[in-house]
Amino acid sequence: MSDHDLWPGVARRLRAQVSPREFETWLRPLKLRLEDSRAIFTVPNRFFADWLSERYLSAINQALMSESGNHLETVFEVADQEPSPAVVTPAPAEVPRELSLNPAYTFSSFVVGPCNELAHAACQAVADQPGRQYNPLMIFGGSGLGKTHLVSAVGNQLTGRDPGFLVHYTSSEAYSNEMIQAVRFDGIQSFRNKYRQVDCLIIDDIQFLSGRERTQEEFFHTFDSLFQSGKQIVLTSDKMPRDIPGLAGRLRTRFEWGLPADLQTPDEETKIAILQRKAAEKNLVLSRKVASYLSRQPESSVRVLEGYLNRLMAVSRLQGVEADLELARQVVGPLVSERQVGVDEVLGAVASHYGLKVADLKGSRKTRDISHPRQVAMYLARRLTRSSFPEIGRAMGGKDHSTVVKGVKRVEQLMAKDPELGETVRVVEAAIQGGRRGG
Ligand code: ADP
Ligand code: MG
Repeated sequence: MSDHDLWPGVARRLRAQVSPREFETWLRPLKLRLEDSRAIFTVPNRFFADWLSERYLSAINQALMSESGNHLETVFEVADQEPSPAVVTPAPAEVPRELSLNPAYTFSSFVVGPCNELAHAACQAVADQPGRQYNPLMIFGGSGLGKTHLVSAVGNQLTGRDPGFLVHYTSSEAYSNEMIQAVRFDGIQSFRNKYRQVDCLIIDDIQFLSGRERTQEEFFHTFDSLFQSGKQIVLTSDKMPRDIPGLAGRLRTRFEWGLPADLQTPDEETKIAILQRKAAEKNLVLSRKVASYLSRQPESSVRVLEGYLNRLMAVSRLQGVEADLELARQVVGPLVSERQVGVDEVLGAVASHYGLKVADLKGSRKTRDISHPRQVAMYLARRLTRSSFPEIGRAMGGKDHSTVVKGVKRVEQLMAKDPELGETVRVVEAAIQGGRRGG
């Protein structure tokens, strides 16, 4: 088979496994030729080669194997000449989107309650005196509990008070994309300068630094440069640094220097106050009764609660009826029951799929035929239930929360490489959801 025949098939297989954007950026530009039993890919530069071998090597090997039926050794060869214009011109979708502060996320629009008092106070202190206490400031919390809102409030207050004070807000993913583009297009020096001259750097969702070695390396230098010149660093994460897999030790220790402040699930009173604030911002009337009904739903995320509120208000407007308790029950009830899955249900479904007993999953035997399904159960419990890592650990026979974190991460990694596992997970999930609808 000539090289010419092989590449389209390989490319098709790869395309099915990665996002369109990854494919366009990293895989489409590849050129393949075969020499003996070697598959040689010509790539524009060294960085490109490292990136491919870190992220896509096993996918590429698999695709080659499936297409050619032979074991080929994959080699990345850096082109001697300048990369062709086709490679260096970024498609619009590749350009990293600059994130910016949401002006609506201010301290005055943030409702303070026992669940977020400490985090709020820490953010306020940093906004009053950046770079003094609490550097870096780390805000932790589950999804939708107000991390982005609070750290944006810091940024908004700082720029509001002094427009010359340079605040840069981004997420770890956008930072990573921006860095990659900078490396590819020889802009790394201006990228560094840009980040090292800010007065306050806010990086949202640093858990996505996980496993990105090159980004971590770069961020390490940015961090030290800012820290040494007394500039404020504000970070958010959904996990404690020690629970972020694939985070370099030197970054972890730096993240632990500062004050960690966490956001907890709001209690009912705080939920009611938040919902009423959101309604008031949109000039809507939300009775206390309805707010209280919404806040009693087994839902920890403020974002999801807000979604219920928006849905209720939309239906009310559309049907021209009042957003009373009855309408709230009609509109929100079905949304809520869809989401309530318990860890026990997940364990039952996983056990029956793999032909095991629930007790095996809760037990501690470490043979792969049991430990793998156990990790799948952890993954699904995390995805489908409202339980926290420690709660899942407890429900699974008293396992440590870090064991659950690792299990979930492991399944995520495996799924990225193994489409069959993805299919298995979907089947088990459908069984859980189907069982619920039936019963
Ligand atoms: P996270 O970044 O933790 O996932 P966000 O900051 O995006 O969460 O918050 C999700 C939504 O909930 C936002 O619309 C935010 O304004 C709102 N929210 C969360 N907590 C509060 C609060 N205490 N007061 C007002 N709004 C809140
Ligand atoms: Mg956020």
